[in-house]
Amino acid sequence: MTFRDLGLMPSLLKSVSEKGFSQPSPIQQKAIPFILEGKDLLGGAQTGTGKTAAFALPVLQLLEKQNNREHYPRALVLTPTRELAEQVHRSFIDFGSQLHQRCAALYGGVNINPQIQQIGHGVDVLVACPGRLLDLVNRGHLDLSRIKFLILDEADRMLDMGFLHDIRKLISLLPSQRQNLLFSATYSDSIRKFACNILKQPILVEVSKKNEAAHQVAQSVCHVAADQKKNMLIKLIRSEHRAQALVFTRTKHGANKLAQHLDKQGIDADAFHSNKSQSARTNSLNRFKNNHIQVLVATDIAARGIDIEKLPWVINFDLPNVPEDYVHRIGRTGRAGETGRAVSLVTPDDIHLLRQVEKLLGNSIDRNNSAEPIPSDESQTTVPPSDPIPFHHRKHRSKKNTTDRFKRRRRTTRSTATQQSA
Ligand code: ADP
Ligand code: MG
Repeated sequence: MTFRDLGLMPSLLKSVSEKGFSQPSPIQQKAIPFILEGKDLLGGAQTGTGKTAAFALPVLQLLEKQNNREHYPRALVLTPTRELAEQVHRSFIDFGSQLHQRCAALYGGVNINPQIQQIGHGVDVLVACPGRLLDLVNRGHLDLSRIKFLILDEADRMLDMGFLHDIRKLISLLPSQRQNLLFSATYSDSIRKFACNILKQPILVEVSKKNEAAHQVAQSVCHVAADQKKNMLIKLIRSEHRAQALVFTRTKHGANKLAQHLDKQGIDADAFHSNKSQSARTNSLNRFKNNHIQVLVATDIAARGIDIEKLPWVINFDLPNVPEDYVHRIGRTGRAGETGRAVSLVTPDDIHLLRQVEKLLGNSIDRNNSAEPIPSDESQTTVPPSDPIPFHHRKHRSKKNTTDRFKRRRRTTRSTATQQSA
C-alpha cells in the first residue's frame, strides 16, 4: 500500500516523499481514505503510530479543494500541550509546503501579539491549545464560525489535563455542520462519553504500533534503596557512554533537584515541566534534541506527544502514580521503528506502583532483583514489549478490558475499521 493508493493529491505525495515517508503507517492507511470521504473518525492508536500525518494529509487535501482566498479559519486542531501544538503545526507546514493553506500555532506562555497579527493576515488551519484559543476568541480576534474540521489530538490527555470545560465552550462556537476527528491512545469511559457527544456516526479506526517487528521497547526494573536512587541513576547514565536519556520524576521540584544534581556530577541535564516558562521549555527541548544536553529530567507533561527522534533511553527515576502514564513515558523511546529501552528505579516503598504497572501491562517487568546497573545485554532484564493498544469498539470498557488490552503481545498488526453504530 502506498500513499498514492490512499487517494492523496500529487502535491501532497511530493511533500510526503520529501519527508522521507515511503509507506503509510497502519493508522494512515486506515484513516486517510475515510477522512477524505468526509467521515467523522475515532482513532485509537498509541503514540508513535503516525497519527499526525493521518489527519494532517487528508485535511490539507480537503482544504485545498475548497476555494478560500480570504483565508478564514476552516480547520481547528486542539492539542493538550504547547510542544505538541508546535509539532503538529510543523507537520502541517511541511506537508502543506506545495499548497496554499496557511497555518498558525496558538498557545499560551508566549506573547500573544504575534499570534494576533498572524491571525489578522488570514489563516486556514489553527493548531491550538484550548486556553490561548479561548483567550483569542474572547478578545475578539478569532471567529470560529466557519470551521469545517475539528481535530482533537491526544483527546485523553486533554481530558486528563482538565480541558473538558474549555473544549465544550469552544465547540459551542463552531458550526454544527463539520467533520470531527478524535484521536486518543486510551479509551476510558470518559473518552467514550466525550466522543459520543462530539462525533457523528464515527468510523472507528484502531491500530497497534507501527512496524511491530522493528519496534521494540525493552523494559526492565532496577530495585534500589531510596537513598541510593541518585547514585544508581548516575551509574546507569555513565554505563552508556554519552547515550541520551529522558528521565522521569514524579514532581516538578524533584525534576529541578535532580537536574541540578546531575549537572553537579558532570552530566549535562535540564529540567522540563510546566512551571518552566515556555521559552525555557522550548530551549531545553531543543538542546536535548540537538544533543547539547545528555539528560532531560521531565514530569509527565513530556510523556505525551513529543517526538524525539531515536531516543535510546527512558529512565523512570520515580514510577508514575497513574500506571497508564508508564505506557506513555516508555512510548517516548523506540518510536517509528527504532529500538529503545526503558528502565525503572523502584524503591521498596514503590513496589505497589510497580505492581499496578505490571497489572496494566499483564507482564512482569520485575526481573532484575539486584541493585547493579542494568547491563547493556538486554536478555537478562527484558520482557517482550507490551501491546500498546488494540482499542476495541466495545460500548463499555471496564478496568478489566483495559488490562486485557495490554496483555496481548505486540506481534501482529491488528487494525480494523468498523462502522460504529452508536
Ligand atoms: P503519533 O501522533 O501517533 O504519536 P507522530 O505523528 O508524531 O505519531 O509520528 C511519529 C513519528 O513517525 C514522527 O517522527 C513521524 O515523522 C514518523 N512517521 C509518521 N508517519 C510515517 C511514515 N508513514 N513513514 C515514516 N515515518 C513516519
Ligand atoms: Mg501525536
